[in-house]
This record gives sequence, C-alpha cells and structure tokens, in this order.
Amino acid sequence: MNRRKFLAATGLGLAAVASPVSMSALGSATKKVAKTGRLNLSFFPYELKLRHAFNLARFSRTTTPDIQVMLEYDGVIGFGEASMPPYLGESVESVTKFLNSLDLSQFSDPFRMEDILSYVDSVAPNNRAAKASVDIALHDLVGKIMGQPWYKIWGYNPEKAPVTSFTIGIDTEEVVRQKVEEARPYKLIKVKMGLDKDQQTIDIIREMMPDVPICVDVNQGWKSKEHGLEMCNWLAERNCLFVEQPFDKEWIDETAWLRERSPLPIIADEAFQRLPDIVRFKGVYDGINIKLMKSTGLYEAHKMVTLARALDMKVMIGCMTETSCAVTAAANLSPVVDFADLDGNLLIANDRFTGMTVENGKITLHDIPGIGVSLNKP
Ligand code: MG
Repeated sequence: MNRRKFLAATGLGLAAVASPVSMSALGSATKKVAKTGRLNLSFFPYELKLRHAFNLARFSRTTTPDIQVMLEYDGVIGFGEASMPPYLGESVESVTKFLNSLDLSQFSDPFRMEDILSYVDSVAPNNRAAKASVDIALHDLVGKIMGQPWYKIWGYNPEKAPVTSFTIGIDTEEVVRQKVEEARPYKLIKVKMGLDKDQQTIDIIREMMPDVPICVDVNQGWKSKEHGLEMCNWLAERNCLFVEQPFDKEWIDETAWLRERSPLPIIADEAFQRLPDIVRFKGVYDGINIKLMKSTGLYEAHKMVTLARALDMKVMIGCMTETSCAVTAAANLSPVVDFADLDGNLLIANDRFTGMTVENGKITLHDIPGIGVSLNKP
C-alpha cells in the first residue's frame, strides 16, 4: 500500500496534517515549496515491522506504532519521528491529537529553538514522544539550513563515538543462538533479562562468544533486592559491564541498597525520563540511559549529558525501536557518552532512512547536514 492509499485507508490523511504542505512534498527534502517564512508541520502514521518478536520481562510484540514528522521552512524539510512502544503510554491517537494542537506557524525563525521547544513542551504535560518528533525535525531543519551535522555544531569529535551494543531478547535457546550469530560483528552485546532464563542466556552467549563484554537490561524484572545482588555478583564474574533498571522504577530505596553493594554500575532507564530526574537519582543509580522519546528530543538530551557529567554519573544513549531518523539523531550525542545502545533501526524491516552506520561495531557518523539522514528510495 502506498502512503497516499495508507493515509486514506486510516482516515488520517490531510485531516491529520496540522499545517499541510503538499502531499508530494512530504517525501522529498529537495522539493521546492512556496516560501512562507513560517514553520509548517505535517505528519503521518507509519507502523514499524519488527524483524523478530521482541520479548521483554513484561511484554512481547511484533510491531511498534510510529509517526513520521516533517517540519518545513522555506522549502527545506526537517525529518522527525515519534516511536510509541506501549509502556510509554502514547499512541497514534495521542500523538496525532498533540501534533494537531500545535500552531508552529506563529514562529518565523527556526533558530529560536528555545522559544519553539518551550512552547511545544508547554502545550501538554506528557506526550514526550510527540514532543521529541518536533524537536528532532527542528534540529534536522536548522542543521540543514546551517549546512552542518549536529555533532559538528556541538563541537564533538565523531572518532570518539563508542561501539554500540546489539540486543538479544528473552527467547528460546534456538533463537538466542541465532541472535548470537547475528551479533558476531558487534563488540558489545546487550542482554534482556528478568525472566527465569537469565543465567541460561548468559551461559549460551559465553559458550559462543567467550570474551565479548555484555550489558544487562533487566527492564524492572527482578523481584527482590537479594536476588538482584546475587545476580549482580554472578554477572560481574562473567565480564558484564553494568545492569540497567534491575527493579520496578518505583523501588528507590531497594535500588539504592543494591547500588551500595553491587560490583557493577546500576543504570536508570524506565525510572528516568526528564532532566530534573538526574538530581533525584544521584546516589540511587550510577548513571542514566537517555532516550530521545523520553527526553522530548535532542535539546533536553544535550543538557542531560552536561548535568550527568557534572554530577559524575555515567551516561548511556539508547533508543526505542525506531527508524534511522531518531536513531541517527541520538547518535550525534554519542561521542560524549560512556555507552551507546543504538540498534533500534536494525531491529525493524521497513526503515525509511539511511543515516549513521555501524562499522566494526562502532557508531560511524557521516558528514550529512542536520541530524544526518537521507530518505530511502521507495
Ligand atoms: Mg532499558
């Protein structure tokens, strides 16, 4: 189904376009449109198809709802995206409603990013993925107008971009073995835990890849602090680097207890959303996992890196299942983080973009203005 038919079939065609540019302009960054001197926002839903069912401690799924966003200014189009895994509490309907409520045509200068993004943040209290989609598109637009990628605008050395991890979910032994084979080009593996197969999964990986460092993501799956400590000690003997979100996001005291005793750093993911959380989590977690769909985009994520560094906390940059649009946007921050987990685009079968690449397991940023993506040919 082409995009026009898809939009018609879902009833989300031009009615969903907050301030429509022509439909033919949606798919092309180079298409000339009339110069209005105003920001024009448009968007359409785009369901992400996962290559493998994604099994986490608390749910399993084969698709991720997503909305693709375009922000146009005098013929230049910035691309953005909202990815909505179910636990974030956003949906195609809620993001559509939020984006339709915005009036970005009140802004005539895309460089006033503070004004524009403060306005977007003020419209509703949550809707973090929807806000991120506008933020990413605005960064793409402004970078394209400047003719520079964001890692350069921020002054970062792309050679300092870290290796990225390849994720292995909770699954049958056969699927885990298949995923370990796929993971061979990577220098870092991330293992999802929190069910009864935790030690079995690590044993299989260690049998097939004895030396590769492993990061562990429990996704709130461990149910007692004693079990958490036992697992941290066991994992530390098997070249694991850190443990992400071991307990329920509300278990502040239990997490602080584990952090005091664990030989491995404890990183906040589900518990951590916005900038002020960092101050609250000093002494509870050793570090934070920044994701653009939680941080409302790059503008706040950039501040998070600075604040976490000032508090001597570790910084990880992660992603949801997303196209290369949001993943590449996040990769612009990767030269200044400790760990990167940016494989969300590799987990989907219908990526619309080409952007950052992974070469020898390392994030490789290219000299493409904006967030650094180009649309794939349909
Ligand atoms: Mg996580």
